[in-house]
Amino acid sequence: MLKTKDILDEKDKRLKQISKEVTFPLSKEDKETINTMIQYLHDSQIDELSEKYDLRPGMGLSAVQLGVLKRYFVVVYEISDEDAEEKKFDNYVLINPKMISNSVEQIYVTDGEGCLSVNRPVEGIVPRYARVTFEAYDMEGKKIHIRAREDLAVCFQHELDHLNGLLFTDHIDPKNPYKGKDSMRAI
Ligand code: ZN
Repeated sequence: MLKTKDILDEKDKRLKQISKEVTFPLSKEDKETINTMIQYLHDSQIDELSEKYDLRPGMGLSAVQLGVLKRYFVVVYEISDEDAEEKKFDNYVLINPKMISNSVEQIYVTDGEGCLSVNRPVEGIVPRYARVTFEAYDMEGKKIHIRAREDLAVCFQHELDHLNGLLFTDHIDPKNPYKGKDSMRAI
């Protein structure tokens, strides 16, 4: 079972490296890694489980955050409404992902983005596209196209950055952390 302490911290140099394309069929290890990532993200968003196992909540993880320098990420996105008795999630597994189109409109997360590798408050905003289309491969090696908008789109772009050795903090100018705010929509 994956624990929060197994996730690389921002000081780890591996997070600055560019991850490598994956070849199919997926290895048993990669399949296991993906399933472990899904499990972590799912459990971390269920209050009882995140407390029980001391999991820091998150909705996205890239392989590099576990020290695996391969181009894939996982997103577990809550789709249930607030009064739902049991939370429901959509799981996304994107292997060798590419962003093939994006909206002109840009957005930013008002409270700032979070990252399981960044354990400190960070001041500033990150410009992201409001709507994106990704092309990727699923676990069976089948090509998939996924459209995402709003917070899910932000998450996809954040994770794609990880595969290219970038953290969300790299997008923030410390001298002007709210640069461009007025030309973007807050979410
Ligand atoms: Zn992250």
